[in-house]
Amino acid sequence: MSEQTLIDGFELARMGRSLGGKIDVSRLDRVADALYSNSGRIDYAISGEIDGEGNHLLHLSISGMLHLRCQRCLGDVEYPLQLQVSLRLVKDEADLGDVEDEDPGVDSIVVKDKLEILSMIEDEILLDLPFSPRHVECGIDAVRESPFSILKGRV
Ligand SMILES: [Zn+2]
Repeated sequence: MSEQTLIDGFELARMGRSLGGKIDVSRLDRVADALYSNSGRIDYAISGEIDGEGNHLLHLSISGMLHLRCQRCLGDVEYPLQLQVSLRLVKDEADLGDVEDEDPGVDSIVVKDKLEILSMIEDEILLDLPFSPRHVECGIDAVRESPFSILKGRV
């Protein structure tokens, strides 16, 4: 059974609470295409905070090992995940403010309702994945810059 884990991000930030857990890699549907194997689990931790300017922040950390598919030999490439991300929660687009003013270490996200932990974690993993994973010995000569890599530096 796959339970949906919903959290109230604003409440978590307001209360300064933390939570964490493990997610089976096999549940990361949107990551599945890049995987050689969906075995294993990843760990996550989320802690809420209100910063000095009254922003609702969630600090997310994700760690674990993914098995990606090598783009040359189609073999198993071990890819250690070690993500630390800070998210600023806003109620609607108007609150996103001026991108120029943003702290480069913090991504702003619009949260209308509850946050679904699984999809939030999937989003961050997808942003982190290499465009063309390969074994070192399979070379990087054919790797071209992805037009989508620009999106990785999202605001
Ligand atoms: Zn390879």
